Amino acid sequence: MDAEEFRRRGKEMIDYVADYLENIRDRRVFPEVQPGYIRDLIPDHAPESGERWEDVFKDIERVIMPGVTHWQHPNFHAYYPAGNSYPATIADILSDSIGCIGFTWASSPACTELEVVVLDWLGKMLNLPEEFLSGSGGGGGGVIQSTASEATLVALLSARAREIFNYKKKHPDQHLEDGEIMAKFVAYCSDQSHSSVERAGLIASVKMRHLSTDGEHSLRGHTLQEAVSKDRAQGLIPVFVCATLGTTNSCAFDNTLELGTVCEKEGLWMHIDAAYAGSAFICPEFRPLLDGVQFAESFNFNPHKWLNVNFDCSAMWVKNSDLISEAFNVDPLYLKHENQGKMPDYRHWHIPLGRRFRSLKLWFVLRMYGHKGLQEYIRKDVKLAHEFEDLVGTDDRFEIFAKVVMGLVCFRLKKSNEVNERLLKAINTDGRIHMVPSKVKDTYFLRLAVCASRTNSDDMKFAWKVIQEVTSKVLNEEK
Ligand code: PLP
Repeated sequence: MDAEEFRRRGKEMIDYVADYLENIRDRRVFPEVQPGYIRDLIPDHAPESGERWEDVFKDIERVIMPGVTHWQHPNFHAYYPAGNSYPATIADILSDSIGCIGFTWASSPACTELEVVVLDWLGKMLNLPEEFLSGSGGGGGGVIQSTASEATLVALLSARAREIFNYKKKHPDQHLEDGEIMAKFVAYCSDQSHSSVERAGLIASVKMRHLSTDGEHSLRGHTLQEAVSKDRAQGLIPVFVCATLGTTNSCAFDNTLELGTVCEKEGLWMHIDAAYAGSAFICPEFRPLLDGVQFAESFNFNPHKWLNVNFDCSAMWVKNSDLISEAFNVDPLYLKHENQGKMPDYRHWHIPLGRRFRSLKLWFVLRMYGHKGLQEYIRKDVKLAHEFEDLVGTDDRFEIFAKVVMGLVCFRLKKSNEVNERLLKAINTDGRIHMVPSKVKDTYFLRLAVCASRTNSDDMKFAWKVIQEVTSKVLNEEK
């Protein structure tokens, strides 16, 4: 494909994408294909000679679309949103075309410099404490990770490195290996934390304790304090706490003020995972939920969930970037440059070496929506969730399972888990809307998340109509 053809085909693709998104309602939200379906549609080896664009293009509808779950469909209500917007898509075209790999400042200065500044912008929109901002002149700053899972892992590995260093300094005559010291380390999260927190513990070889939550599914300070004291009494070394703001199960909020107070007293690294809910903290009415962040060493949320930025863009801030960059520091000659130390070399802040120019899409989105436009977007989704909550309240066969705080409604039939499981399965088989379930303390419930940017009030009514129809069918079959 030469430049002339690229101009033509690129424009065709932009038209295709705009048509896809604007007419997405005409598609079935959840595909009906069976595992392995693509093998039957394409050859089992790559073509010997290049094919024509027309043939490649045709296969988008023939091969790909039948197997797509349409996350941007207004009737997609599963998981949490996958951020998506035209400005972010355009920025990604530019990023892909610049094609730089921004692992150091020198490998593409704009890539690093824009990320530093735009994460300060975003940090200010969240009203993060100054210490997290690079412009404050301290050691803090932001970085774009691929995912919240990686942010948690990076935070845990950094906390682990800090504690190994501190231990060796405190006990110079013990001459213990790192592994022997780490065997004493304990980290904590709640029984509602995302599975990626447990996974971070497994990867970092640090014991991860899942502490029980209160009636609102929130981890409280006294629970953490008891666990820490018990572990210390047994000769273990508590090092890390991952607090969650907006759990995946039910959008519950840990009490970060209480947890932070314990972390400060006990010298623990507190990381806050606000993967979904963090976007809402740009609205002053939701910002109190972030109180306690002043005690955290690191904070993370995903603009690629609820801030109209396409995957991947997970924003992480730290108070002391030395603790991160020194945790993984290796310095081969081919990556050194003469301006080292003047700006971040982001290769030290995350796990891979290579990194894309992701700040471009965040920059485009922040500029084209503005703080106000993004606040309106968040408020619209929260309002829709409350509209749906009200609809559930009109039918006394149902109950709301957890307080609706943001764009997630957790609800269930006032019946056994088995009946609720059958209901969810029937809804997804019906295929007009798509949801996933969850379970907290043995209670199974359905989750309706407001996800796509095109979802509106009529879609809430539509989802409720589908759910009521399917419910009547499932309950009839029960009889
Ligand atoms: N943490 C929470 C609270 C989440 O809700 C999720 C995903 O929904 C994650 C972490 C994982 O996010 P990511 O896919 O960015 O790793």
